[in-house]
Amino acid sequence: FVWQSRRKSGSLRNYFYTGGLILRKVYMDNAATSYPKAPGVGAAMANYIENVGCNIGRGGYQSAYDAAGVALDTRERLNALVHGPGARNVILTPGATYGLNFLLKGLLRPGDRVLTSPMEHNAVLRPLKQLEQAGVQVEYVPCDGRGVLDLERAGAQIGTKPRAVILTHASNVSGGMMPIEKIGPLCRRAGVFFLVDGAQTVGMHPVDMAEMCIDALAFPGHKGLLGPQGIGGMVVTDALAGAIDPLVAGGTGSLSHSLEMPDFLPDRFEPGTLNLPGVYGLNAALQYLKQQGDALREREYRLTRHLLARMLELEGDGLRVLGPTEVFNPRAGVVSVDFTGLDNGEAAFRLEQESGVATRCGLHCAPTAHLTLGSYPQGAVRFSVGPFNTFAEIDYVQGAVYNLLCR
Ligand code: PMP
Repeated sequence: FVWQSRRKSGSLRNYFYTGGLILRKVYMDNAATSYPKAPGVGAAMANYIENVGCNIGRGGYQSAYDAAGVALDTRERLNALVHGPGARNVILTPGATYGLNFLLKGLLRPGDRVLTSPMEHNAVLRPLKQLEQAGVQVEYVPCDGRGVLDLERAGAQIGTKPRAVILTHASNVSGGMMPIEKIGPLCRRAGVFFLVDGAQTVGMHPVDMAEMCIDALAFPGHKGLLGPQGIGGMVVTDALAGAIDPLVAGGTGSLSHSLEMPDFLPDRFEPGTLNLPGVYGLNAALQYLKQQGDALREREYRLTRHLLARMLELEGDGLRVLGPTEVFNPRAGVVSVDFTGLDNGEAAFRLEQESGVATRCGLHCAPTAHLTLGSYPQGAVRFSVGPFNTFAEIDYVQGAVYNLLCR
């Protein structure tokens, strides 16, 4: 299965040479961006560049209509994947960060209160900091030392009716999932907008906006969706769309006589030319995900459980596993460890130099998550799997970590 996938995507490059030695190359940084991409992504992007090329909404000829059809098909596929309110509610953005900024800065006004968690990424925390400086009150629901949200406190804080709640679906540091299926209905009942950062989950983990009562979901195309960088989206309900101002204004190819942004979706929040190579690539990735059904997701779950189990076997002197440790709980494909007897930056460097294992060290753009998990300021080494990793690679990574602990 993996061999076939890698062969089809043309990315069978898992060995490399160093100083006369042949080392295995193991990519364990899928939380930063998935690699390899879904088979067909590169070809679809090249096809757009080489054979299509034209813009959409700006040209009255067949190839422009064809490209518009691919963009619409992409919205329909995304909407179906997350059970959103409709294809026109899918706003294509350059990535999760842009969607989160559009949502937070479009919605919140001085005097508003917003509720979040300490497990958020800087893509949420930094816009919130800017908003705080402009007079928005930011409140936090506490999490325990494993990054697990205090649901009771969350319920009480939602009861005070802030303007919005924003939570990540899964932490990019601990891999732990937030109970968004419980928070959404609480927000809906209290009349509070519920925004979700789906950067670590959309594509690989089920998200159901309708059932989970989510008003807005932001995500990148280049992680769990297995698509290229530079394209992502936000899906918004009509109720929320009516409450947010368009942060960026410009041409939409529609209602050109008016100096106001159109009041309909997606045009209201999609000024300027779309990243069409990205749209074509993302469309190919979505087709692949659909064709694979649940198999890919289940494979990533199994790989993640295996990775967590292998790291827990090594826990003890010299190594601490961050985040939840229940092997059978769903989690994003992330396991971070703190090398207590070694600098984490040096550990990551040596993992690559000595064993060819690519990881990410540091604070992972989530300083308060590390504070919560007790790994601030030293950070951690993050191992993150994607569906194209193998169980043998994970065993190999365990051996590489073991070697570091021994020497
Ligand atoms: N939120 C989380 C939880 C993330 O892990 C990331 C990416 N590291 C982002 C937001 C931002 O995503 P992007 O860089 O693709 O905009």
